[in-house]
Amino acid sequence: MSRCVSVLGSTGSIGRQSLEVMAACGMTAAALTANRDAARMEGQVRAFRPKLAAMMDPAAAADLRLRLADTSVRVAEGMEGLMEAASLPEADTVITAVMGIVGLRPTLAAIRQGKRIALANKETLVCAGELVMEEAARWGAEIIPVDSEHSAIFQSLQGCRDRGEVKRLILTASGGPFFGYTREQLVHVTLSQALKHPNWSMGAKITIDSATLMNKGLEFIEAMRLYHMPPEKISIVIHRESIVHSLVEYCDNAMIAQLGTADMRLPIQYALTWPERTAGPARALDLLSCPPLTFAQPDYGAFPCLSLALSAARTGGTATAILNGANEAAVARFLAEEIPFGRIAELVERALEQVPAVPSPTLEDILAADEAARAVAMK
Ligand code: MG
Repeated sequence: MSRCVSVLGSTGSIGRQSLEVMAACGMTAAALTANRDAARMEGQVRAFRPKLAAMMDPAAAADLRLRLADTSVRVAEGMEGLMEAASLPEADTVITAVMGIVGLRPTLAAIRQGKRIALANKETLVCAGELVMEEAARWGAEIIPVDSEHSAIFQSLQGCRDRGEVKRLILTASGGPFFGYTREQLVHVTLSQALKHPNWSMGAKITIDSATLMNKGLEFIEAMRLYHMPPEKISIVIHRESIVHSLVEYCDNAMIAQLGTADMRLPIQYALTWPERTAGPARALDLLSCPPLTFAQPDYGAFPCLSLALSAARTGGTATAILNGANEAAVARFLAEEIPFGRIAELVERALEQVPAVPSPTLEDILAADEAARAVAMK
């Protein structure tokens, strides 16, 4: 499989696993970008020899330039560097593994070059899903999900010739570290408890989103956008074992699911090789040693972030950008131990109440809504 890939966010959890998949599948890198981890970036650049490496942080870019002085690899910086990496002509595919709304503009830049987007940045579709999907259709850019649930749905939709045959999409949720907790018990949980995910090893922000179940709310919105589904045709079911990664229910009541280990390298690889499959590094699932598969209803009362996300999904327009912006700011404050766990949902709710939602937003409307929501959540 000869693909030339630019990886935005190559030093993060998804970025590192993407490079493992690329190495295993014999793919090359055109550009790599990261926030500030110059030491790890140096190792990646030496292994993959991309044309361009970009660091968001200017000091980290300066450090990387010194580290790579003996090579011909160019080092760029800031949003400009990220944009250049996203639109480099050599790449046919861009993996968007940066965290947060910062991924939106580079994703749009790559779309306008008609590149395949292996989408690992859910905030892009949450904040600007309609705009992004319209642009992708206009420029003929394929958007292939990397998120395990959306990849499972994508895989379960292969062979579906008429989307009218789909009755509903069923997103599975592990339930996170606080499954079974009451709202009262959740008031006292600590940062280190919230950072312990039972099944998946991920970055800090998404791990906290998994603990509040906001992650599933964001994925609900992501699924609406990716698959052009109304909210009433998407369900969420708690599945503690993280083996069934999501399902599609068809009009004849057949359910097609994708099963596997909790290994992100499989969805990453499928986003790169689709429509083909190749052997790869993801761990195989041993059915005979699987625990029994269980399914349960989410507790919307104990996890208000999930209800807030579903309500923003129904409102539409900039409501989902407000939800996301407030959540990003609130989670950053929780990670800095400025606010308790229960406050995350309160700040998101306040932003949704105070910032008016605009229907059919432009990119400017979306960025303004994001900023206004952050300002509310920072207070
Ligand atoms: Mg997911």
